[in-house]
Amino acid sequence: MILLGSTGSIGVNTLNIARKFDLNVEVLVAGRNIKLLNEQIREFKPKKVVIDRKEDISLVCHDNISFGETAILEAIENSSSKTVVNALVGFLGLKPTLKAIECGKKIALANKESLVVAGKFIDQKNLSPIDSEHFGLWYLLQNKKIDSMMITASGGSFRDYPLDKLSNVSIKEALAHPNWSMGNKITIDSATMTNKMFELMEAAWLFDIRKLDAIIETKSLIHAFINFVDGSTTAHIANTSMQLPIAYAILGRCDEQILKPVNLIDIGNLEFKKIEVSRYPIWEIKDEILNNLDLGVVLNAANEVAVSKFLNSQIGFLDISKITMNAIKKFNNVNPTSIDEIFQIDKEVRKYCEL
Ligand code: NDP
Repeated sequence: MILLGSTGSIGVNTLNIARKFDLNVEVLVAGRNIKLLNEQIREFKPKKVVIDRKEDISLVCHDNISFGETAILEAIENSSSKTVVNALVGFLGLKPTLKAIECGKKIALANKESLVVAGKFIDQKNLSPIDSEHFGLWYLLQNKKIDSMMITASGGSFRDYPLDKLSNVSIKEALAHPNWSMGNKITIDSATMTNKMFELMEAAWLFDIRKLDAIIETKSLIHAFINFVDGSTTAHIANTSMQLPIAYAILGRCDEQILKPVNLIDIGNLEFKKIEVSRYPIWEIKDEILNNLDLGVVLNAANEVAVSKFLNSQIGFLDISKITMNAIKKFNNVNPTSIDEIFQIDKEVRKYCEL
């Protein structure tokens, strides 16, 4: 496989699966964590390595190494591997997703932003999502008439935090997710609930359904529900690890144990909560977004700018949702008709939100 984002949370879990199933890793792509990358090179012996910055090249223990976005695309194009695992974070992941599809490769897609921003231009024929909720929905599908789908949210770092103190939370507190260990950006997206909004959009593209919703399940053990027309609801339950969705996305099927099964007696009880607009302001525009998936590129660009400002201590936590909702108001009539327009809108929104 070609693994994009090997040093991140999904990347490391993907290599755990590669190790378990003895899968060949032809290309490793990473950003700036050269120490971990060198360990991965030593173990998986890729033919090609791509990193973010030129100045780090001399630190990497490999003789076929290049850097930058174009090099990622070239590595995909020139590889013989049939599978690309895209675990890059943010808009950066879109071009590699498109390139993998153009090259006829199978794409195991953790980079949900690709679907959020450009779902209508992405051919899903060879695409499998790496996201626990969508894996859960896929797992629950059967040949029965579906009424609606529901995914769960953990509620993120501030699920139980006093509402009146949310404007002053620290970066460290925001990055302390109660259930999952993930990269910084998705951890902040979970705290604002923007991640769940992304996932609803992802589900809309993947399952071609708009009757979608989300609720909080505080232990992150149930990932998805399907409500069937006959009145029954099924739930997907699995321990909190991305290795199961990753294994299925790469292998197609899996008959060995990947995770320890959930022990319901040990769990004792589960708790469900409504996603309240008072705690997660972004939820106010959920229906608007679901009724107009073109807004994904706006939501994502504004959110990327806002999250990076928050992580650089330039704005407070509640400003993240303010910036994204303001951008949705400003750009609410976008109607991209080509992938080039997606890049153009992304640029405009970023410029507007950077001000
Ligand atoms: P991380 O931040 O942990 O990892 C991101 C990866 O991308 C790292 O390997 C990073 O390298 C690399 N990277 C960043 N910038 C560049 C660049 N310019 N060039 C090359 N590589 C770069 O993110 P996650 O693994 O948490 O998430 C990845 C994607 O998967 C996101 O889209 C997220 O929404 C999605 N996802 C994540 C889940 C999770 O459990 N973590 C669950 C479901 C989906 P480095 O660290 O070396 O700088």
